Amino acid sequence: MFRSVRPKAQQTKGAKDPVLKSIATIKHYEQNDFEMLSVNGRLPTFKKFLYDRSGEKCTSAKLATAGFCKHGKKDEPDAICLFCGKVMSFDPDDDPWEEHQSHCPQCPFVQIGKLDETTWTVDDTIHLLSALVTRSKKEATLQLTRELSSMIETMTQKLSL
Ligand SMILES: [Zn+2]
Repeated sequence: MFRSVRPKAQQTKGAKDPVLKSIATIKHYEQNDFEMLSVNGRLPTFKKFLYDRSGEKCTSAKLATAGFCKHGKKDEPDAICLFCGKVMSFDPDDDPWEEHQSHCPQCPFVQIGKLDETTWTVDDTIHLLSALVTRSKKEATLQLTRELSSMIETMTQKLSL
């Protein structure tokens, strides 16, 4: 699930109603998009990453620098690019930036091609933040639409009984 990669996702767990939960998720994304723009926001999502322990080439620092956040279960080497939404499963000797470039040539982060954030122009920053916000809101809105459709279906079934 997309939101599981966000470090503060527990904020949305309190809501039991699926629609309220989806709305909370949208608000959560709004609060965290700016944070995820930076490698310092993405790196903490890889807490106790599988390949960091064994001293492999594909480290959490390299993954975060290449635009990725942790995705999926703790013991799996999966990561997601929040700019293009690509989920990838990495091998210990992978170079995350090379993999990102070869699998996602259309990704806005890949197209800008500047791993060092201090070299970003204002236009680069706006372009990347815009990609993040658009992607995360689209994801959350789709989830909300699914929840509402499910509710309507359930209500329709109850009314027809
Ligand atoms: Zn990407």
